[in-house]
Amino acid sequence: FGMLRKRDPEIARILIDELDRVRGGIQLIASENFTSPAVMAALGSTLTNKYAEGYPGRRYYGGCEVVDRAERLAIDRARELFGAEHANVQPHSGASANLAAYAALLQPGDTMLAMALPHGGHLTHGSKVNFSGRWFDVVSYGVRRDTELIDYDEVRDLALRHQPKLIVCGATAYPRLIDYSTFRGIADEVGAWLLADVAHPIGLMAGGAIPSAVPYADVVTFTTHKALRGPRGGAILCTEELARRIDRAVFPFVQGGPLMHVVAAKAVAFGEAMRPEFAGYARQVIVNAQALTEALAVRGMRAVSGGTDTHLALIDLRGVGVSGAEAERRCAAAGITLNRNVIPYDPEPAAVTSGIRVGTPCVTTQGMGPQDLKEVGALVARAVLEPAGAGEVRARVAALLAIHQPYLSEF
Ligand code: PLP
Repeated sequence: FGMLRKRDPEIARILIDELDRVRGGIQLIASENFTSPAVMAALGSTLTNKYAEGYPGRRYYGGCEVVDRAERLAIDRARELFGAEHANVQPHSGASANLAAYAALLQPGDTMLAMALPHGGHLTHGSKVNFSGRWFDVVSYGVRRDTELIDYDEVRDLALRHQPKLIVCGATAYPRLIDYSTFRGIADEVGAWLLADVAHPIGLMAGGAIPSAVPYADVVTFTTHKALRGPRGGAILCTEELARRIDRAVFPFVQGGPLMHVVAAKAVAFGEAMRPEFAGYARQVIVNAQALTEALAVRGMRAVSGGTDTHLALIDLRGVGVSGAEAERRCAAAGITLNRNVIPYDPEPAAVTSGIRVGTPCVTTQGMGPQDLKEVGALVARAVLEPAGAGEVRARVAALLAIHQPYLSEF
């Protein structure tokens, strides 16, 4: 870091400022985490220099014998960790993993059935502003108005009516467990492929804290940087039957050279997730999310679907009369980072929203437990309901962070 400070003080300053930002506030963004120094070391390594188009043992560049070992380790660890027949660790992101998976299974114009964005689905699940909505004929399912849970009857009805070639399950803002077995049954009934996009819960699956989608889905896509605590990136698991199609879709169809430093960092993260302590972490993330959700609920901030089984909760703020956008601003002023989020059947547009999304991967990595999360919930509620008290909330946030720092040194 000293070298960077000398060479490029402007960028060094930005790195320090970002570290200070993270150290100075509570991070409740459900899709973020703090990677380990070992993951950081792999990311900041000479592997960033290497071109390695192709796959281990089958490259289009010379000199790949060393990076091949990194990719093989990443593949083997992913297969072992998730019990998958095949793994592709090259996708640069969750969006490119989904693009590759669709490319492997669909032709432009084919029909796919996926969760609607306003009900918790991801942009890549068929939004009109994304390639998925532009290139495929997308039919969307959602959650029931009364239970706010996925409407499996609607999924089945839509599948029977539209005969999709692909059914996508998985979401960005769904706090409950997904019934992959029911999705498998529906996919089998209509002869569709089943893709589980488990970008969000993959870390909890890795730690064995929730049931895995791998035994049920033909293809599983995920990101490595959320609860899984790896570098920013994506990966795909699939059956042996689809291995070649998936590999060819990632390279050469969607991507060129893989980011070998990121591939190595993914291997490190998979290795860390195989350790017994990661199972404890994954369980703790959920217990913490439940403690946070309850602390908000007793203060009039209702959890969509009545609670959470995962690392995240979606909070309906209509009962307290504050919009999601305003709550996001007020929390930021009090040193708490979270994001506004539409809730199912939200009367407000996406720029305003009636809800916020909160998640506990970061605070759990920092070592916080349910008692801390009860306090964090009280602080979020105070920040949202009494903006004049932001200074006092900030002081409590600082006191909590004094005990639970994510990074002790500069990288
Ligand atoms: N799929 C789901 C369900 C997600 O939640 C996300 C990101 O939040 C993605 C895909 C896309 O991942 P990325 O941002 O790495 O492209």
